[in-house]
Amino acid sequence: MSSRTQDIERTSESRRPTIYTEAMEVFHHAADLIGLDRRVRMELEEPDYEHIFYVTLKLHTRLVPLPQVDAPKYKDLGDSELLPDGLEPLLDGSFVFKRRALINANVQMREGVMRLKGKGLYKVLPGRPERFKAYRIQHNQARGPYKGGTRYHQDVSLDLFKVLAAEMTWKTAIADVPFGGGKGGIKVDPRSLSSEELEALTLRYMYRLKPLVGPNLDIPAPDVGTDANVMGLMLRQYTDGERERHSLRGVITGKDTRIGGSEGRVKATGQGLAYTIQEWFAERGSTPAGSSFVLQGFGNVGSNAAEILTHLGSKLLAVNDAGGTIYNPHGIDVQDLITYVYENPTNLRRTVAGYPKAQQIGKSDLWDVEADICVPAALGGEITGSVAERLKVKLVAEGANGPTTPDGDRVLAKRGIEMIPDIIGNAGGVTVSYYEWVQNKRMEHWSETEVNTRLEQAIKSNYRIIRDISRNTPRRTATHNSTRYCIGKEVDMRTAAMVLALKRIEAHYQLEGFSQ
Ligand code: NAD
Repeated sequence: MSSRTQDIERTSESRRPTIYTEAMEVFHHAADLIGLDRRVRMELEEPDYEHIFYVTLKLHTRLVPLPQVDAPKYKDLGDSELLPDGLEPLLDGSFVFKRRALINANVQMREGVMRLKGKGLYKVLPGRPERFKAYRIQHNQARGPYKGGTRYHQDVSLDLFKVLAAEMTWKTAIADVPFGGGKGGIKVDPRSLSSEELEALTLRYMYRLKPLVGPNLDIPAPDVGTDANVMGLMLRQYTDGERERHSLRGVITGKDTRIGGSEGRVKATGQGLAYTIQEWFAERGSTPAGSSFVLQGFGNVGSNAAEILTHLGSKLLAVNDAGGTIYNPHGIDVQDLITYVYENPTNLRRTVAGYPKAQQIGKSDLWDVEADICVPAALGGEITGSVAERLKVKLVAEGANGPTTPDGDRVLAKRGIEMIPDIIGNAGGVTVSYYEWVQNKRMEHWSETEVNTRLEQAIKSNYRIIRDISRNTPRRTATHNSTRYCIGKEVDMRTAAMVLALKRIEAHYQLEGFSQ
């Protein structure tokens, strides 16, 4: 009986399966396969620290659309004219009201209701404080400081952050960068806040986080719902008033290149994914030219991966994001779609929905589009068993974290659909984050070519080691050495990636021992 089975027997009465226990299945499977030391397994089974705290924020006054049923009461109310840049539009149709809106304004208000010229009736919702739940999970630091992204999303939970933090432990080991794993963020829909509120929330979050993070302790980065602007604010809050603040720049990665960010970081995750896809074709004596792909998520990872893949000659056939799904059998012009989504002031939700040069299809129709590659680059848990049954592709290349469920994995394997697992597929981001951290420590600035040369070498050599573990073909070549990692039998790619991570982490415990 494996030690995992004994564990399950011992704890099955007290523990119900969660997304964390589900995500850890591959860890336990690989740990059993390599006979991972029992104590190392215990160190990795649960996070080192689970920090949960609250951040409060004073929300500004809003103008919220008046419910239709109340409208007749105000049909004689005249138009109000406010300075347009004193009103910040939000996704839910309301406006955050700034005092400057009143400069030269003509306001007609009754019972807190006003009619905005050309827009309709709105009720004034006075500013009020609100509390948000915040997290930072530090999973493991055997190989170096905790490292991982910051997610602002309405659907986060402790369990989800535990999954994502553990994934970072595996990913940093696979990328062979000297970091451990962490993850954190706030339970908030950032699109429901004005830019000033988002800034205040971020500063407050970092204020609470400051005792827990640092350039040699825990290094946050962007993730879903955060970007280089948010990272700039986190950096400022951490370093404000510090005597040697420039030496602390490495506390945050994913910064703007003008304030210590690395060239190539914005595109790094998409770029890394493209390198693994290139390598997958190279194994078959081919290139991505002439292939086709479908994509879920057109954010940082999805849009950059799409841009790079189309440069390599692959054709984008369909895209799904939070707003909708588009399809064009003749191929979608990625540059044009980027302009439609990101450089279009009327596209408030930054969605591909409504893109005029493609058909609008249902979300689930995406999975029926025949293509060579499926790139999930949105949220986790999207490729379930039933989705995997429908896919008409040869390869799933995971850009998102955890997009395929264990059921989905089993179905893909049964159907012979190949897999580039997330922990190598999207490791480009953390690899370039490491380059950013090194540049900050050395006060250097590398060119994009230098960054990408290093990234290509790192991703492709680690990908080759994983492929060798998967096929049980130990090799030592000029670019990689898999002899230490193969386990004497063939395993699927996801297990192979985990084997590599665990062997690299285990070495630290074996060679350094445990503190007593
Ligand atoms: P992003 O916020 O820039 O984009 C997210 C995209 O997903 C958007 O296009 C959004 O519309 C779409 N989306 C959200 N909910 C959806 C839903 N329910 N159905 C379909 N689409 C939906 O985020 P990102 O930085 O591109 O990250 C995407 C994924 O990649 C996440 O899983 C993240 O953890 C992972 N990842 C990101 C990085 C990075 O460097 N940004 C690195 C490693 C992994």
